[in-house]
Amino acid sequence: MDTTCDICRHTTATGRYLCDACEYRAGAWLAGLPAQAVLLGHLLAPVVGPARRGGSGRAHSPLPVDLRALDLLGAGHAVPLEDPHGDQTGGVPVAALLTGWAHYIAHDLLPDVFIDEQGVLRRVGAASACPRTGASIAGWATWLVRYLPHAVTRPYAAELYEQLHDVVDRIERITHTRPGRRHRQAPCPDCTAFALVEQETELHINCDACGHRLTPDEYTAHRDQVMPALARTALLMLARRETAA
Ligand SMILES: [Zn+2]
Ligand SMILES: [Zn+2]
Repeated sequence: MDTTCDICRHTTATGRYLCDACEYRAGAWLAGLPAQAVLLGHLLAPVVGPARRGGSGRAHSPLPVDLRALDLLGAGHAVPLEDPHGDQTGGVPVAALLTGWAHYIAHDLLPDVFIDEQGVLRRVGAASACPRTGASIAGWATWLVRYLPHAVTRPYAAELYEQLHDVVDRIERITHTRPGRRHRQAPCPDCTAFALVEQETELHINCDACGHRLTPDEYTAHRDQVMPALARTALLMLARRETAA
């Protein structure tokens, strides 16, 4: 079986369509959606300006809401995998997208079998997606986070990933939020650029220059190996400069 991630082309474990890093990123997007929905909700509250001086006393008409936020928070239908051209995610609201995927994944889990306490092979009834925390964006996002490990073993994993990416991108452009990034001290072990970055939504520490990636443990080992030598070199250069001066 092909063991290449459908998204980033890194190697995956057998039976997976997405690698650990892409699964982690998709999970982080889902986990961040409830907070993003709250921010979008604020953009929907009409902004009322102060009453005009000498006017009739009525506040003037509320400023129009951000229609892009309305589009994302509104009702709508998601039709994952049924769009023949794969280009219909543009206007799908968040809740409809999450609900559509949750039901699709629940349906995909059928027919499912399990062995009961007596060791009898039984078939479970029709699975239907039902979030424990209510049918809100937060509820559906939590449901999908729980079933993401199953979804990454299915051929539609990349489609789910790309639609989540698209919706998160649309939201971030409106709410002006981006995942926190932190530059790390040590140079990249592959290209030597000082471009290693740790980002909230990433499983790895990634090199902005060459795309090399390290797990946090690998980074720590690499840093402990190279930084003392780099610090010694820097001190030597400083000492030489002072001697020359
Ligand atoms: Zn990947
Ligand atoms: Zn690099």
